[in-house]
Amino acid sequence: MIEIDSINKAYKNEGFETNVLKGISVSVDEGDYVSIIGPSGSGKSTLMTILGCLGQATSGTYLLGGEEVGKLKDYDLSRIRNEKIGFVFQAFHLLPGVSAFDNVMMPLIYCNKIPDDAQERVKQALIRVGLEHRMAHTPGQLSGGEQQSVAVARALINDPAVIFADEPTGNLDASSSDDLHNLFKKLQSEMGQTFLIV
Ligand code: ADP
Repeated sequence: MIEIDSINKAYKNEGFETNVLKGISVSVDEGDYVSIIGPSGSGKSTLMTILGCLGQATSGTYLLGGEEVGKLKDYDLSRIRNEKIGFVFQAFHLLPGVSAFDNVMMPLIYCNKIPDDAQERVKQALIRVGLEHRMAHTPGQLSGGEQQSVAVARALINDPAVIFADEPTGNLDASSSDDLHNLFKKLQSEMGQTFLIV
């Protein structure tokens, strides 16, 4: 499903070039649960940015679901992100003052056409993460763990090929972190969902 081959990334700032990823090759199969582990500054976020089609490598190739995405233009990268990738971030990135239901609906609004069954899909996604009783709550009315579960439901809504999670437990206490890992594991075993987690 994911094939990157000999990826390099060079950042150029103020005449100084930093080479971060030096010839990285990774292959991820459907249903895999992969962790990217390493000390701060080792390039985890850079790798995640490239895999998540939020940025591009300086050289090397990237195939996502058989499609060469490494050289696509911005518009096509946005389409890939919307259709094939679900994101979960450390800081949740939910819209404040907007219900959990509407937050999960958001990626469907950015599709070419809002699906006829959009409302039902949002409901099912929230049930899947155990938040059927919190659909009308705004982020400010939810705990950190619940907010991250809303973000997971939002990541699931387009039935993505893969979910990328960048330090998703960074803002959670130990018990909520365990809950989130258990939720990821449940989604992997029940739905065959592929995960890549920093
Ligand atoms: P990690 O996520 O493992 O902490 P990063 O991918 O964020 O690592 O960063 C790896 C290295 O890449 C950093 O130490 C820094 O030297 C360089 N780097 C990251 N982002 C930039 C940037 N926007 N401009 C210049 N250098 C950067």
